[in-house]
Amino acid sequence: MVQTISVIGAGTMGNGIAHVFAQSGYKVTLIDVSAAQLEKALQTITKNFDRQIAKGSITEDVKTNALANITTITDVAAGVQQAQLVVEAATENVELKLKIFRQVDEAAPAGCILATNTSSISITKIAAATKRPELVIGMHFMNPVPVMKLVEIINGYATKKEVTDTIVELSKHLGKVPCVVNDYPGFIANRILMPMINEAIYSLYEGVAGVESIDTVMKLGMAHPMGSLQLADFIGLDVCLAILKVLHDGFGNPKYAPCPLLVNMVTAGKLGVKAGEGFYVYTAGSKELVVSERFR
Ligand code: NAD
Repeated sequence: MVQTISVIGAGTMGNGIAHVFAQSGYKVTLIDVSAAQLEKALQTITKNFDRQIAKGSITEDVKTNALANITTITDVAAGVQQAQLVVEAATENVELKLKIFRQVDEAAPAGCILATNTSSISITKIAAATKRPELVIGMHFMNPVPVMKLVEIINGYATKKEVTDTIVELSKHLGKVPCVVNDYPGFIANRILMPMINEAIYSLYEGVAGVESIDTVMKLGMAHPMGSLQLADFIGLDVCLAILKVLHDGFGNPKYAPCPLLVNMVTAGKLGVKAGEGFYVYTAGSKELVVSERFR
C-alpha cells in the first residue's frame, strides 16, 4: 500500500499533484530546487483549498489536514529517501529528467515506484536511465490537477503489470479516472490534441478564418469548453511546439510538422497566457478575452 509520496517539481503541475494526494490523506514531500518556488507552491495550494471551501466542496478541516500532510525540501536525494512512490513533475526537458531519474534511482528505496508526469517524453527512455525500468511508469495528470478528472497512465516497454495496477488504484483513490495507454509519441492525449491545435493555427495562418471565428466554431460546434487557439495560449505555445516536435520526430510523418506561425510566435516570445500574449492578450485581473492586435 502506497502511503508516502514524493513529488519532484513544485510548479504548475507539481503543486496540483501535491494538493490532490495530500487531500486524499497521503503524506507528501514536495521537492523543488528553488525554495522560492516551494513557498509559492504552498501559497497556491492554500489559495486553491480556500476556493474549494468557498464553493462548499470541502470543509476547513480537510484543508487543515491536507496542509499538515505536506512537507517541502530542496534536496532531491534526501526528499525521496522514505518514498514509496515518486511522481516527477519537473521542467519538460529530456536531459533534466534523465538526470533526475538517475539521482532518484540511487536515493529512493528498492521497490519504490518512479512515475513521471511528462507530457511527451518517452517513458521507456526515462526508465532506461534507471536500474528499475519495471517500476517506472507515466502518470500524466491534466491541468488544473485538482479539477481535471483524467489521469493518463502510460506503460513503458518494461513496466510491470503490478505497477500499472497500483497506479490505477491510486488514481481512483484520488477521485480521478485512470486511462491506461502504451508508450508511443504523444501517448493519446497529446497525439490527438496537438494536431487539432496545429490545424487551428494553420487555419489562421492560411487566412481561412480569424481567431474568434476559429474558436467559436470549436466551442459552439464541437461543444469544447474553450476554443483551440485559447487552449493553445493556456497550455503555452512553447509547450505545444515542443510536443509537436516530439510527434514529428517520433513518427517521421510530415502531418505533424508545426505550423510556421506557431514557430514564429514562440521565437517572438508570444507564448500565450504566461507571457501576457499569444492569440489573445492577457491583462492582469481582466476576465475579458481580447484578440491580440496582430490578428485583428
Ligand atoms: P513548471 O515550469 O511550472 O514547473 C517545473 C518545476 O520544476 C519548477 O518549479 C522548477 O524549479 C522545478 N525543477 C527544475 N529542475 C528541477 C530539479 N532538478 N529538481 C527539482 N525540481 C526541479 O512546469 P509544469 O508546467 O508544472 O510542468 C511539469 C511537468 O508536467 C512537465 O513534464 C510537463 O510536460 C508536465 N505537464 C504539464 C502540463 C501543463 O499544462 N503545464 C500538463 C500536463 C503535464
